[in-house]
Amino acid sequence: MKTIIERIDTVQLNIDTIKKAGDILKSGGLVAFPTETVYGLGADALNEDAAKKIYAAKGRPSDNPLIVHIADMEALGKITETIPEKAIVVAKKYWPGPLTMIFQKTNAVPLGTTGGLDTVAVRMPEHLIAKEIIRAGGGYIAAPSANTSGRPSPTTAQHVEEDLTGKIDMIVDGGAVNIGVESTILDMTVEPPMILRPGAVTKEMLEELIGEVAVDKTLIEPDSKKVPKAPGMKYRHYAPKAELTVLEGDLLRVTEEINRRAEEKLSEGFKVGIIATAETAGRYSSGNVKCIGTRQDEMTVAGNLYGILRDFDSDGTDFIYSESFSTGGIGSAVMNRLLKAAGHHIIHV
Ligand code: AMP
Ligand code: MG
Repeated sequence: MKTIIERIDTVQLNIDTIKKAGDILKSGGLVAFPTETVYGLGADALNEDAAKKIYAAKGRPSDNPLIVHIADMEALGKITETIPEKAIVVAKKYWPGPLTMIFQKTNAVPLGTTGGLDTVAVRMPEHLIAKEIIRAGGGYIAAPSANTSGRPSPTTAQHVEEDLTGKIDMIVDGGAVNIGVESTILDMTVEPPMILRPGAVTKEMLEELIGEVAVDKTLIEPDSKKVPKAPGMKYRHYAPKAELTVLEGDLLRVTEEINRRAEEKLSEGFKVGIIATAETAGRYSSGNVKCIGTRQDEMTVAGNLYGILRDFDSDGTDFIYSESFSTGGIGSAVMNRLLKAAGHHIIHV
């Protein structure tokens, strides 16, 4: 398959590109496009055959349900059985935005989209290109991250090209995304509502609005035998090819221990990568040191995480050592993705 790649300005949207993307979606094809979180791989969510193509292109396990993206509140009624009062409160504040909510689904949503579940995950993205493509494509677009399953999610159109050229109809290149980690998932079918995946909209932000919010235990105790409530969270997502180790503890001791381990692997002839921060980058004496952002603003860390993991892949890195981050705010989303990428290989120093 030939993949059309079109660059589009984020401010002055090219109507022809939007229309072309919309037509492909309406006829059951696949289009990758930017959202504020990561690049999404879109298909008509109400067309079972189109949704199936997503699983084939990504190599995604078929029990891993897709998030349905909408462009306005009016669209919600057709796909959800009931909309709890709290969901309306949350939507008023955080939609459009990096938040997904789970509802009981109606028959309009095929089981092929929800991985056989009777619930549906819905998000209204804020990104202008995403909104316009969703509208042009019929209003209900399933759009998981536009990467090969198991690889880090794409934060640029080039990442999408690496993984999906020749497997999808079109890539709309709108430049780098701004958040860089996937949306928060909040299950509204339980009381209290439960976070199934941490993201830029944090537990603290949600509790301020609607009171108590639970967190899926498997996110806190990943070693427990329990299966995550979001089927996709059980897979070893976001993994780089290298063996990644996260080191946690006093920052000075962490940098010393990373230096020690890096020296050891380098002397054995391996390629070593180090994930450092603006505050610590100068303390590393060897290895390929990449600065992921500043501890003063962990949004910068979120924005660079996946790109750095991909860079280490293309450099042929064998071992990666990373510092750890706070577990409040966006830090909890960063640590969740980082620990998954590391297969939960964390060392306390
Ligand atoms: P992605 O779009 O690739 O970032 O992944 C979507 C995530 O949402 C996966 O972890 C899914 O398991 C989760 N998800 C989608 N629909 C549902 C649902 N109905 N119930 C629980 N989790 C869901
Ligand atoms: Mg994904």
